[in-house]
Amino acid sequence: MVTRAGIVVTGTEVLTGRVTDRNGPWLAEQLRLLGVDVGHVVVVGDRPEDLRATLGFLAGLGTDLLITSGGLGPTADDLTAQVVADFQGRPTAVDPALEQRVAAVVERLMARRGWRADPDATAAGVRKQAVVPDGATVLEPVGTAPGLVVPPAEGRDGPPVVVLPGPPGELQGMWPAAVAAPGVRELLEGAPELRQRTLRLWGTLEAQLASTLREAGTGAGLDGLEVTTCLREGELEIVTRFAPEAQTVYDRLSDVLTQRYADTLFSTGPTLDELVAGALADRGLTIATAESCTGGLLSARLIERPGSSAYVLGGVTAYANSAKQQLLEVPADLLAEHGAVSPQVARALADGVRARFGADVGVGITGVAGPGGGTPDKPVGTVHVCVVGPDGVRERALRLHGSRSAVRDRSVTMAMHLLRELLLGGPPA
Ligand code: ATP
Ligand code: MG
Repeated sequence: MVTRAGIVVTGTEVLTGRVTDRNGPWLAEQLRLLGVDVGHVVVVGDRPEDLRATLGFLAGLGTDLLITSGGLGPTADDLTAQVVADFQGRPTAVDPALEQRVAAVVERLMARRGWRADPDATAAGVRKQAVVPDGATVLEPVGTAPGLVVPPAEGRDGPPVVVLPGPPGELQGMWPAAVAAPGVRELLEGAPELRQRTLRLWGTLEAQLASTLREAGTGAGLDGLEVTTCLREGELEIVTRFAPEAQTVYDRLSDVLTQRYADTLFSTGPTLDELVAGALADRGLTIATAESCTGGLLSARLIERPGSSAYVLGGVTAYANSAKQQLLEVPADLLAEHGAVSPQVARALADGVRARFGADVGVGITGVAGPGGGTPDKPVGTVHVCVVGPDGVRERALRLHGSRSAVRDRSVTMAMHLLRELLLGGPPA
Protein backbone atom coordinates (compact mmCIF):
# COMPACT_ATOMS: atom_id res chain seq x y z
CA MET A 1 0.00 0.00 0.00
CA VAL A 2 1.47 3.35 -0.99
CA THR A 3 0.96 6.45 1.11
CA ARG A 4 -0.30 9.27 -1.06
CA ALA A 5 -0.18 13.00 -0.46
CA GLY A 6 -1.60 16.04 -2.21
CA ILE A 7 -0.06 19.50 -2.10
CA VAL A 8 -2.01 22.75 -2.38
CA VAL A 9 0.07 25.83 -3.13
CA THR A 10 -1.95 28.98 -2.46
CA GLY A 11 -1.40 32.52 -3.61
CA THR A 12 -2.61 34.61 -6.53
CA GLU A 13 1.01 35.74 -7.03
CA VAL A 14 2.01 32.10 -7.71
CA LEU A 15 -1.08 31.40 -9.83
CA THR A 16 -0.33 34.36 -12.08
CA GLY A 17 3.37 33.59 -12.39
CA ARG A 18 4.61 36.71 -10.60
CA VAL A 19 6.26 34.34 -8.14
CA THR A 20 7.61 30.98 -9.30
CA ASP A 21 6.46 28.10 -7.11
CA ARG A 22 9.32 26.84 -5.00
CA ASN A 23 7.21 25.08 -2.37
CA GLY A 24 5.35 22.46 -4.42
CA PRO A 25 8.47 20.86 -5.93
CA TRP A 26 10.38 21.08 -2.66
CA LEU A 27 7.59 19.43 -0.66
CA ALA A 28 7.12 16.75 -3.34
CA GLU A 29 10.81 15.83 -3.14
CA GLN A 30 10.80 15.77 0.68
CA LEU A 31 7.76 13.51 0.65
CA ARG A 32 9.35 11.21 -1.92
CA LEU A 33 12.38 10.85 0.34
CA LEU A 34 9.94 9.76 3.07
CA GLY A 35 8.36 7.20 0.75
CA VAL A 36 5.20 9.20 0.09
CA ASP A 37 3.82 9.36 -3.43
CA VAL A 38 2.60 12.80 -4.51
CA GLY A 39 -0.17 12.67 -7.06
CA HIS A 40 -0.96 16.36 -7.34
CA VAL A 41 0.51 19.77 -6.74
CA VAL A 42 -2.37 22.19 -7.23
CA VAL A 43 -1.91 25.95 -7.36
CA VAL A 44 -4.93 28.00 -6.28
CA GLY A 45 -5.44 31.75 -5.96
CA ASP A 46 -6.43 33.51 -2.75
CA ARG A 47 -10.12 32.66 -2.96
CA PRO A 48 -11.64 30.64 -0.11
CA GLU A 49 -14.08 28.72 -2.31
CA ASP A 50 -11.30 27.62 -4.67
CA LEU A 51 -9.11 26.45 -1.81
CA ARG A 52 -12.03 24.57 -0.28
CA ALA A 53 -12.88 22.90 -3.57
CA THR A 54 -9.27 21.82 -4.05
CA LEU A 55 -9.08 20.29 -0.57
CA GLY A 56 -12.32 18.45 -1.31
CA PHE A 57 -11.03 17.24 -4.67
CA LEU A 58 -7.77 15.86 -3.24
CA ALA A 59 -9.43 14.30 -0.17
CA GLY A 60 -12.00 12.71 -2.49
CA LEU A 61 -9.20 10.86 -4.31
CA GLY A 62 -8.39 8.96 -1.13
CA THR A 63 -5.25 11.01 -0.42
CA ASP A 64 -3.70 10.12 2.96
CA LEU A 65 -2.16 13.50 3.70
CA LEU A 66 -2.81 17.06 2.51
CA ILE A 67 -0.32 19.88 2.73
CA THR A 68 -0.97 23.56 2.05
CA SER A 69 1.53 26.36 1.61
CA GLY A 70 0.85 30.08 2.01
CA GLY A 71 -1.91 32.30 3.27
CA LEU A 72 -0.96 32.34 6.96
CA GLY A 73 -0.05 36.00 7.26
CA PRO A 74 -1.88 38.77 9.11
CA THR A 75 -3.65 40.26 6.08
CA ALA A 76 -7.21 39.73 4.89
CA ASP A 77 -6.17 37.61 1.88
CA ASP A 78 -4.44 35.16 4.23
CA LEU A 79 -7.26 32.77 4.91
CA THR A 80 -5.85 29.27 4.76
CA ALA A 81 -6.16 28.46 8.47
CA GLN A 82 -9.85 29.38 8.56
CA VAL A 83 -10.69 27.50 5.34
CA VAL A 84 -8.87 24.37 6.55
CA ALA A 85 -10.61 24.54 9.94
CA ASP A 86 -14.01 24.76 8.21
CA PHE A 87 -13.05 21.95 5.85
CA GLN A 88 -12.14 19.66 8.74
CA GLY A 89 -15.27 20.65 10.68
CA ARG A 90 -13.38 22.21 13.56
CA PRO A 91 -14.30 25.48 15.31
CA THR A 92 -11.47 27.99 15.81
CA ALA A 93 -10.40 30.12 18.74
CA VAL A 94 -7.53 32.45 19.57
CA ASP A 95 -4.81 30.65 21.53
CA PRO A 96 -3.75 33.34 24.06
CA ALA A 97 -0.32 31.83 24.77
CA LEU A 98 0.40 31.57 21.06
CA GLU A 99 -0.83 35.14 20.60
CA GLN A 100 1.82 36.29 23.09
CA ARG A 101 4.57 34.33 21.37
CA VAL A 102 3.65 35.73 17.94
CA ALA A 103 3.45 39.25 19.43
CA ALA A 104 6.96 38.84 20.82
CA VAL A 105 8.29 37.70 17.43
CA VAL A 106 6.61 40.62 15.65
CA GLU A 107 7.97 43.08 18.19
CA ARG A 108 11.53 41.80 17.79
CA LEU A 109 11.19 41.93 14.01
CA MET A 110 9.90 45.50 14.01
CA ALA A 111 12.62 46.64 16.42
CA ARG A 112 15.34 45.03 14.29
CA ARG A 113 14.08 46.68 11.13
CA GLY A 114 13.29 49.99 12.83
CA TRP A 115 9.65 49.80 11.69
CA ARG A 116 6.76 51.56 13.37
CA ALA A 117 3.12 50.55 13.03
CA ASP A 118 -0.24 51.35 14.52
CA PRO A 119 -0.37 49.17 17.67
CA ASP A 120 -4.04 48.28 17.17
CA ALA A 121 -3.45 47.10 13.61
CA THR A 122 -0.42 45.09 14.71
CA ALA A 123 -2.37 43.48 17.55
CA ALA A 124 -5.22 42.55 15.19
CA GLY A 125 -2.74 40.92 12.80
CA VAL A 126 -1.11 39.00 15.62
CA ARG A 127 -4.48 37.84 16.93
CA LYS A 128 -5.43 36.59 13.47
CA GLN A 129 -2.22 34.55 13.25
CA ALA A 130 -2.95 33.00 16.66
CA VAL A 131 -6.32 31.57 15.57
CA VAL A 132 -6.10 27.80 16.04
CA PRO A 133 -8.67 25.15 15.07
CA ASP A 134 -9.85 23.06 18.00
CA GLY A 135 -7.75 19.89 18.27
CA ALA A 136 -4.99 21.09 15.91
CA THR A 137 -1.27 20.87 16.62
CA VAL A 138 0.55 24.21 16.41
CA LEU A 139 3.90 24.28 14.62
CA GLU A 140 5.98 27.05 16.18
CA PRO A 141 6.62 30.05 13.90
CA VAL A 142 9.89 30.24 11.99
CA GLY A 143 8.97 33.70 10.70
CA THR A 144 5.87 35.19 12.28
CA ALA A 145 3.22 32.71 11.14
CA PRO A 146 2.64 29.49 13.09
CA GLY A 147 1.87 26.36 11.07
CA LEU A 148 -0.83 23.82 11.90
CA VAL A 149 -1.64 20.16 11.64
CA VAL A 150 -5.42 19.89 11.48
CA PRO A 151 -7.02 16.43 11.71
CA PRO A 152 -10.63 15.90 10.65
CA ALA A 153 -13.16 16.47 13.44
CA GLU A 154 -14.07 13.45 15.61
CA GLY A 155 -16.26 11.06 13.74
CA ARG A 156 -15.25 12.39 10.31
CA ASP A 157 -13.14 10.61 7.71
CA GLY A 158 -10.39 12.19 5.70
CA PRO A 159 -6.72 13.09 5.71
CA PRO A 160 -5.04 15.43 8.17
CA VAL A 161 -4.08 18.79 6.66
CA VAL A 162 -0.63 20.23 7.32
CA VAL A 163 -0.79 24.01 6.97
CA LEU A 164 2.55 25.69 6.26
CA PRO A 165 3.55 29.32 5.56
CA GLY A 166 4.32 30.58 2.04
CA PRO A 167 7.83 32.04 2.25
CA PRO A 168 10.06 29.10 1.23
CA GLY A 169 12.58 29.66 4.02
CA GLU A 170 9.82 29.57 6.63
CA LEU A 171 8.16 26.54 5.10
CA GLN A 172 11.43 24.61 4.94
CA GLY A 173 12.37 25.60 8.47
CA MET A 174 9.04 24.32 9.74
CA TRP A 175 9.13 21.03 7.85
CA PRO A 176 10.96 18.94 10.52
CA ALA A 177 8.32 19.92 13.10
CA ALA A 178 5.52 19.09 10.65
CA VAL A 179 6.98 15.65 9.96
CA ALA A 180 7.29 14.91 13.69
CA ALA A 181 3.80 16.15 14.62
CA PRO A 182 1.24 13.68 15.97
CA GLY A 183 -0.97 12.40 13.17
CA VAL A 184 1.75 12.95 10.58
CA ARG A 185 4.55 10.94 12.16
CA GLU A 186 2.42 7.76 12.42
CA LEU A 187 1.41 8.11 8.78
CA LEU A 188 4.98 8.53 7.60
CA GLU A 189 6.31 5.69 9.73
CA GLY A 190 3.93 3.41 7.89
CA ALA A 191 5.14 4.57 4.47
CA PRO A 192 7.33 2.03 2.68
CA GLU A 193 10.59 3.15 1.05
CA LEU A 194 10.25 4.63 -2.42
CA ARG A 195 13.49 4.44 -4.41
CA GLN A 196 14.43 6.74 -7.27
CA ARG A 197 17.24 6.31 -9.79
CA THR A 198 18.25 8.58 -12.67
CA LEU A 199 20.07 7.89 -15.93
CA ARG A 200 21.12 10.72 -18.25
CA LEU A 201 21.78 10.47 -21.96
CA TRP A 202 23.29 13.06 -24.29
CA GLY A 203 22.43 12.70 -27.96
CA THR A 204 19.71 10.03 -27.91
CA LEU A 205 16.32 10.74 -29.43
CA GLU A 206 13.30 10.42 -27.16
CA ALA A 207 11.51 8.29 -29.75
CA GLN A 208 14.47 5.89 -29.84
CA LEU A 209 14.41 5.52 -26.08
CA ALA A 210 10.63 5.05 -26.12
CA SER A 211 11.01 2.09 -28.45
CA THR A 212 13.71 0.54 -26.23
CA LEU A 213 11.42 0.98 -23.22
CA ARG A 214 8.55 -0.65 -25.11
CA GLU A 215 10.75 -3.65 -25.88
CA ALA A 216 11.99 -3.82 -22.29
CA GLY A 217 8.40 -3.60 -21.08
CA THR A 218 7.09 -6.67 -22.87
CA GLY A 219 5.94 -9.41 -20.52
CA ALA A 220 6.74 -8.57 -16.92
CA GLY A 221 9.73 -6.48 -18.00
CA LEU A 222 8.98 -3.25 -16.17
CA ASP A 223 6.57 -4.48 -13.49
CA GLY A 224 6.77 -2.37 -10.36
CA LEU A 225 8.70 0.44 -12.05
CA GLU A 226 7.40 3.91 -12.82
CA VAL A 227 9.61 5.25 -15.60
CA THR A 228 9.43 8.88 -16.71
CA THR A 229 11.59 10.45 -19.40
CA CYS A 230 12.21 14.13 -19.87
CA LEU A 231 14.09 15.88 -22.67
CA ARG A 232 15.79 19.08 -21.61
CA GLU A 233 18.29 21.01 -23.73
CA GLY A 234 19.28 17.89 -25.62
CA GLU A 235 19.67 15.89 -22.45
CA LEU A 236 17.40 12.91 -21.97
CA GLU A 237 16.70 12.20 -18.32
CA ILE A 238 15.24 8.83 -17.32
CA VAL A 239 13.88 8.81 -13.78
CA THR A 240 12.57 5.55 -12.35
CA ARG A 241 10.73 5.08 -9.08
CA PHE A 242 10.11 1.76 -7.42
CA ALA A 243 9.61 -0.05 -4.13
CA PRO A 244 12.60 -2.04 -2.79
CA GLU A 245 10.94 -5.30 -3.98
CA ALA A 246 11.38 -4.14 -7.57
CA GLN A 247 15.13 -3.49 -7.27
CA THR A 248 16.06 -6.51 -9.42
CA VAL A 249 13.58 -5.42 -12.09
CA TYR A 250 15.24 -2.02 -12.11
CA ASP A 251 18.73 -3.50 -12.24
CA ARG A 252 17.68 -5.43 -15.35
CA LEU A 253 16.32 -2.28 -17.01
CA SER A 254 19.42 -0.35 -16.03
CA ASP A 255 21.64 -3.06 -17.63
CA VAL A 256 19.61 -2.95 -20.84
CA LEU A 257 19.84 0.84 -21.09
CA THR A 258 23.50 0.96 -20.10
CA GLN A 259 24.43 -1.49 -22.85
CA ARG A 260 22.09 -0.12 -25.49
CA TYR A 261 23.14 3.50 -24.91
CA ALA A 262 26.79 3.05 -23.95
CA ASP A 263 27.71 5.80 -26.41
CA THR A 264 25.36 8.45 -24.97
CA LEU A 265 24.92 7.55 -21.29
CA PHE A 266 26.93 10.13 -19.39
CA SER A 267 25.53 9.79 -15.89
CA THR A 268 23.93 7.19 -13.64
CA GLY A 269 22.84 9.84 -11.16
CA PRO A 270 24.64 13.17 -10.88
CA THR A 271 23.61 16.16 -12.99
CA LEU A 272 25.93 17.55 -15.65
CA ASP A 273 26.87 20.42 -13.34
CA GLU A 274 27.63 18.04 -10.48
CA LEU A 275 29.85 15.95 -12.75
CA VAL A 276 31.87 18.95 -13.97
CA ALA A 277 32.19 20.43 -10.47
CA GLY A 278 33.16 17.03 -9.05
CA ALA A 279 35.81 16.46 -11.74
CA LEU A 280 37.40 19.89 -11.18
CA ALA A 281 37.35 19.53 -7.38
CA ASP A 282 38.56 15.91 -7.31
CA ARG A 283 41.45 16.61 -9.64
CA GLY A 284 42.34 19.90 -7.99
CA LEU A 285 41.99 21.81 -11.27
CA THR A 286 41.09 25.48 -11.65
CA ILE A 287 39.00 27.03 -14.41
CA ALA A 288 38.52 30.44 -16.07
CA THR A 289 36.02 31.47 -18.74
CA ALA A 290 36.06 33.90 -21.65
CA GLU A 291 32.57 34.57 -22.99
CA SER A 292 31.30 36.72 -25.79
CA CYS A 293 27.70 35.93 -26.82
CA THR A 294 26.87 34.14 -23.54
CA GLY A 295 27.87 37.21 -21.54
CA GLY A 296 28.86 35.46 -18.31
CA LEU A 297 26.14 32.78 -18.27
CA LEU A 298 28.72 29.99 -18.10
CA SER A 299 30.60 31.74 -15.34
CA ALA A 300 27.35 32.23 -13.41
CA ARG A 301 26.41 28.58 -13.90
CA LEU A 302 29.74 27.39 -12.54
CA ILE A 303 29.60 29.78 -9.59
CA GLU A 304 26.00 28.89 -8.73
CA ARG A 305 27.28 25.81 -6.91
CA PRO A 306 28.32 26.23 -3.29
CA GLY A 307 32.05 25.52 -2.93
CA SER A 308 32.86 26.68 -6.46
CA SER A 309 35.56 29.01 -5.11
CA ALA A 310 37.72 25.89 -4.81
CA TYR A 311 38.07 25.73 -8.61
CA VAL A 312 36.59 28.81 -10.35
CA LEU A 313 39.21 31.56 -10.70
CA GLY A 314 37.07 33.96 -12.69
CA GLY A 315 35.79 34.97 -16.07
CA VAL A 316 35.87 37.75 -18.63
CA THR A 317 32.89 38.89 -20.65
CA ALA A 318 34.71 40.01 -23.77
CA TYR A 319 31.92 41.22 -26.00
CA ALA A 320 33.66 43.81 -28.18
CA ASN A 321 36.70 42.94 -30.27
CA SER A 322 38.65 45.55 -28.32
CA ALA A 323 37.90 43.66 -25.10
CA LYS A 324 38.99 40.38 -26.66
CA GLN A 325 42.27 42.00 -27.72
CA GLN A 326 43.04 44.07 -24.65
CA LEU A 327 41.87 41.74 -21.89
CA LEU A 328 42.63 38.36 -23.42
CA GLU A 329 45.32 39.06 -25.99
CA VAL A 330 43.37 37.75 -28.93
CA PRO A 331 45.57 38.89 -31.86
CA ALA A 332 44.06 41.66 -34.01
CA ASP A 333 45.05 39.90 -37.24
CA LEU A 334 43.29 36.70 -36.10
CA LEU A 335 40.09 38.71 -35.60
CA ALA A 336 40.57 40.44 -38.97
CA GLU A 337 41.33 37.25 -40.87
CA HIS A 338 38.69 34.86 -39.41
CA GLY A 339 36.18 37.19 -37.76
CA ALA A 340 35.20 37.24 -34.09
CA VAL A 341 32.86 34.27 -34.58
CA SER A 342 35.32 31.58 -35.62
CA PRO A 343 36.95 28.47 -34.19
CA GLN A 344 40.28 30.30 -34.19
CA VAL A 345 38.95 33.07 -31.95
CA ALA A 346 37.17 30.61 -29.63
CA ARG A 347 40.52 28.88 -29.18
CA ALA A 348 42.33 32.19 -28.65
CA LEU A 349 39.75 33.18 -26.03
CA ALA A 350 40.23 29.89 -24.17
CA ASP A 351 44.03 30.15 -24.34
CA GLY A 352 43.96 33.84 -23.45
CA VAL A 353 41.80 33.48 -20.36
CA ARG A 354 43.70 30.41 -19.23
CA ALA A 355 46.97 32.35 -19.38
CA ARG A 356 45.52 35.53 -17.92
CA PHE A 357 44.12 33.75 -14.83
CA GLY A 358 46.82 31.08 -14.61
CA ALA A 359 44.03 28.47 -14.72
CA ASP A 360 44.36 24.78 -15.57
CA VAL A 361 41.26 24.89 -17.78
CA GLY A 362 40.17 27.74 -20.08
CA VAL A 363 36.86 28.06 -21.93
CA GLY A 364 36.13 30.31 -24.92
CA ILE A 365 32.66 30.96 -26.36
CA THR A 366 31.92 33.20 -29.33
CA GLY A 367 28.83 33.25 -31.54
CA VAL A 368 25.91 35.01 -33.17
CA ALA A 369 23.01 34.86 -30.70
CA GLY A 370 20.65 36.85 -32.95
CA PRO A 371 18.08 37.86 -33.86
CA GLY A 372 20.23 40.24 -35.97
CA GLY A 373 23.85 40.02 -36.98
CA GLY A 374 23.73 36.84 -39.05
CA THR A 375 25.41 36.50 -42.46
CA PRO A 376 25.06 33.78 -45.12
CA ASP A 377 28.18 31.93 -43.98
CA LYS A 378 27.67 32.76 -40.27
CA PRO A 379 23.90 32.67 -39.72
CA VAL A 380 22.25 33.38 -36.38
CA GLY A 381 22.94 30.43 -34.09
CA THR A 382 26.54 29.95 -35.25
CA VAL A 383 28.54 29.42 -32.08
CA HIS A 384 32.09 28.22 -31.48
CA VAL A 385 33.00 26.71 -28.14
CA CYS A 386 36.51 25.69 -27.14
CA VAL A 387 37.77 24.09 -23.94
CA VAL A 388 41.50 23.83 -23.24
CA GLY A 389 42.92 21.85 -20.34
CA PRO A 390 45.91 19.83 -19.22
CA ASP A 391 44.61 16.78 -21.11
CA GLY A 392 44.07 18.54 -24.42
CA VAL A 393 41.52 20.54 -26.34
CA ARG A 394 37.84 20.01 -27.19
CA GLU A 395 36.05 22.25 -29.63
CA ARG A 396 32.67 22.39 -31.35
CA ALA A 397 31.15 24.43 -34.13
CA LEU A 398 27.41 24.73 -33.49
CA ARG A 399 24.45 25.78 -35.59
CA LEU A 400 21.76 26.34 -33.00
CA HIS A 401 18.10 27.19 -33.55
CA GLY A 402 15.73 29.24 -31.46
CA SER A 403 15.57 32.59 -29.76
CA ARG A 404 18.50 34.66 -28.56
CA SER A 405 18.14 33.30 -25.04
CA ALA A 406 17.80 29.71 -26.31
CA VAL A 407 21.02 30.05 -28.36
CA ARG A 408 22.87 31.47 -25.38
CA ASP A 409 21.58 28.79 -22.98
CA ARG A 410 22.41 25.95 -25.35
CA SER A 411 25.90 27.30 -25.95
CA VAL A 412 26.51 27.18 -22.21
CA THR A 413 25.15 23.64 -21.96
CA MET A 414 27.44 22.61 -24.83
CA ALA A 415 30.40 24.16 -23.04
CA MET A 416 29.50 22.17 -19.91
CA HIS A 417 29.37 18.96 -21.94
CA LEU A 418 32.73 19.75 -23.54
CA LEU A 419 34.15 20.25 -20.06
CA ARG A 420 32.67 16.93 -18.99
CA GLU A 421 34.16 15.19 -22.02
CA LEU A 422 37.57 16.79 -21.52
CA LEU A 423 37.73 16.05 -17.78
CA LEU A 424 35.93 12.71 -17.54
CA GLY A 425 35.84 11.16 -20.98
CA GLY A 426 32.58 9.38 -21.71
CA PRO A 427 30.16 10.16 -24.53
CA PRO A 428 31.31 12.97 -26.86
CA ALA A 429 29.68 16.35 -26.27
P1 ATP B 1 3.25 36.08 5.08
O1 ATP B 1 3.17 36.12 6.56
O2 ATP B 1 4.60 36.48 4.58
O3 ATP B 1 2.10 36.75 4.39
P2 ATP B 1 2.01 33.66 4.18
O4 ATP B 1 2.08 32.31 4.80
O5 ATP B 1 0.72 34.37 4.24
O6 ATP B 1 3.19 34.51 4.75
P3 ATP B 1 1.86 34.16 1.42
O7 ATP B 1 1.18 35.43 1.74
O8 ATP B 1 1.09 33.15 0.67
O9 ATP B 1 2.43 33.47 2.70
O10 ATP B 1 3.22 34.44 0.66
C1 ATP B 1 4.15 35.39 1.15
C2 ATP B 1 5.31 35.48 0.18
O11 ATP B 1 6.04 34.29 0.22
C3 ATP B 1 4.89 35.61 -1.29
O12 ATP B 1 4.65 36.93 -1.66
C4 ATP B 1 6.09 35.03 -1.99
O13 ATP B 1 7.10 35.97 -2.09
C5 ATP B 1 6.49 33.93 -1.05
N1 ATP B 1 5.86 32.68 -1.47
C6 ATP B 1 4.64 32.23 -1.12
N2 ATP B 1 4.36 31.06 -1.69
C7 ATP B 1 5.43 30.75 -2.45
C8 ATP B 1 5.75 29.66 -3.31
N3 ATP B 1 4.90 28.64 -3.50
N4 ATP B 1 6.94 29.68 -3.94
C9 ATP B 1 7.80 30.70 -3.76
N5 ATP B 1 7.55 31.75 -2.96
C10 ATP B 1 6.39 31.80 -2.31
MG1 MG C 1 0.48 36.45 3.15
